[in-house]
Amino acid sequence: MKLFIPDIVYIHPKVLTYDVGKKAKAYLEKLNIPIIESRKVEIEGTCPSENYVKAKKTIYLTVNNQKKLRPCKPSADYQFALSSSCPGHCEYCYLQTTQGEKPFMKVFVNIEEILEVIQDHINKNSPNITTFESGSITDPIALEHLTGNLKRCIEFFGESQKGRLRIITKYNNVNSFLAINHHQHTKFRFSINTKYVINTFEHNTASFEERLIAAKKIAHAGYPIGFIIAPIIIYDGWKKEYKELLSHLKTQLKDYHEEITFELIQHRFTATAKELILTRFPKTKLDMDEEKRQLKWGPYGKFKYIYPKEKSMDMKNYITELIDKNFQNATIEYFT
Ligand code: SF4
Repeated sequence: MKLFIPDIVYIHPKVLTYDVGKKAKAYLEKLNIPIIESRKVEIEGTCPSENYVKAKKTIYLTVNNQKKLRPCKPSADYQFALSSSCPGHCEYCYLQTTQGEKPFMKVFVNIEEILEVIQDHINKNSPNITTFESGSITDPIALEHLTGNLKRCIEFFGESQKGRLRIITKYNNVNSFLAINHHQHTKFRFSINTKYVINTFEHNTASFEERLIAAKKIAHAGYPIGFIIAPIIIYDGWKKEYKELLSHLKTQLKDYHEEITFELIQHRFTATAKELILTRFPKTKLDMDEEKRQLKWGPYGKFKYIYPKEKSMDMKNYITELIDKNFQNATIEYFT
């Protein structure tokens, strides 16, 4: 897919004291993107949905001052951010509720300081291996062309004795990662789903085929790989389509004999998310009927609606069976 180009960019004045910030600015200037130097972002749409659309085309180049990283179970020990929000418009995205009415994208330029914080966390946990997730509040590949920061991170982890990086993406801009010394310390996971789910709910992301081509390139470059199937959604014909998904994946990866991991996440929503999703996507086909779900207490202090036990067990067993049938080299890390 084409690289994301914002409509407008705000730049915090501090950004221009960093090389990455200067380079990003020069890159955007070449593209003739309007640039405003400012300590805040102003988006004034006439309604919430206009604010949302405008925000998803707005970038704020700034710095990340976080010193204490948050835990990130079950996928890693900690999460860190090279950016926040993303250019995608996935209707179900859990970031809908965490990034406010105007989820503009922050892109952090102080990469060496971010890496220092990561190193502190590695040191504290030494001699154990410490894992870091880079895609909890963003898609780290979607905005990589603006800074090259993820490439720098992969190189950092490549040299790290005790640190490991995990990347999750729905994008395919991976060429800059193919010829670097990663030492298999970075694992790429591609988020995949049935054609129905991708085409109906995951707007402005790479297509299934593009993600698969990217996954094959990354596998070929020697990185450990995995797939996240999320959100798993029950709809008419879901079993047939998830079966097709896994069998297609098997055909595409038939020459790949290293371990492939799978993470399985069923669809869930909170009451706040439902309200926001209906404002932003009034015609959404997402099934968010509370009557058909059961409540589960979430780690961030909110109840979420998941599928009832019987259905989620059916989902778990069915997808597990498909993975086991299609892949000798698969490990299912979790179902949640
Ligand atoms: S690509 Fe990922 S982070 Fe971006 S909207 Fe979709 S689910 Fe959310």
